[in-house]
Amino acid sequence: MTAELRFKRVLLKVSGEALMGDQGFGIDVAVADRIAGDIAAVRRLGVDISVVIGGGNIFRGVAVASKGGDRVTGDHMGMLATVINALALRTSLMKLGVDTVVLSAIAMPEICESFSQRVALAHAEAGRVVIFAGGTGNPFFTTDSAAALRAAEMGADALFKGTQVDGIYSEDPKINPNAERYDQLTHDDVLRQGLAIMDVAAIALARENRIPIVVFSIHHQGEFARILTGGGRATIVSD
Ligand code: UDP
Repeated sequence: MTAELRFKRVLLKVSGEALMGDQGFGIDVAVADRIAGDIAAVRRLGVDISVVIGGGNIFRGVAVASKGGDRVTGDHMGMLATVINALALRTSLMKLGVDTVVLSAIAMPEICESFSQRVALAHAEAGRVVIFAGGTGNPFFTTDSAAALRAAEMGADALFKGTQVDGIYSEDPKINPNAERYDQLTHDDVLRQGLAIMDVAAIALARENRIPIVVFSIHHQGEFARILTGGGRATIVSD
């Protein structure tokens, strides 16, 4: 079965917004359960999977900075938000019987294990889904950059970016319905055309480490597994 897989070890980036459903804030448990179901399906295919989760459904550092507050404190708050989301997603995965561990870039041993590449690889080797919380652990970064970083550290052969739509478009298709959709791009195309799919640092890091980025709709149930088995709709960014 694994012979037919497009990728064998993947890192999935889920934005915080994906977890909030129609609520406008926080976590919709039904949505977290559905995303967990998609992750479980991919795990059942025999794919090694780790996840970087965002925090934008709860807090973004720029919200503090834009109101005259300290950006670093704001970013600390944003990173803590990702830990809340990671715990929610782990809970959803554990309900499905998927052995899952949360590793945080910021030490909080009473709540979850701390990240190190060695520990993360050992958990992956033991067949666990690894959820990375706390972003990169540094202010002024995003969880997109954390996703590219962890994908490189885990030796992932693809970075899956779950978004609101089924790939990369020339413009936001929700604003311009005539926007062009791409099946295939290079990292350079994305950077040159300023396609706002992930931040520049994340794309550059993926390019440097020759990691393909697969952009797909996180809201389309079962799509993650379909893409891994050769179907589905996605834009693939590779060199
Ligand atoms: N953040 C940070 N460093 C990181 C990752 C995240 O400071 O390495 C903070 C930052 O304030 C960011 C917030 O955490 O706004 C939530 O992350 P992000 O905006 O990437 O979440 P997403 O948009 O994916 O939900």
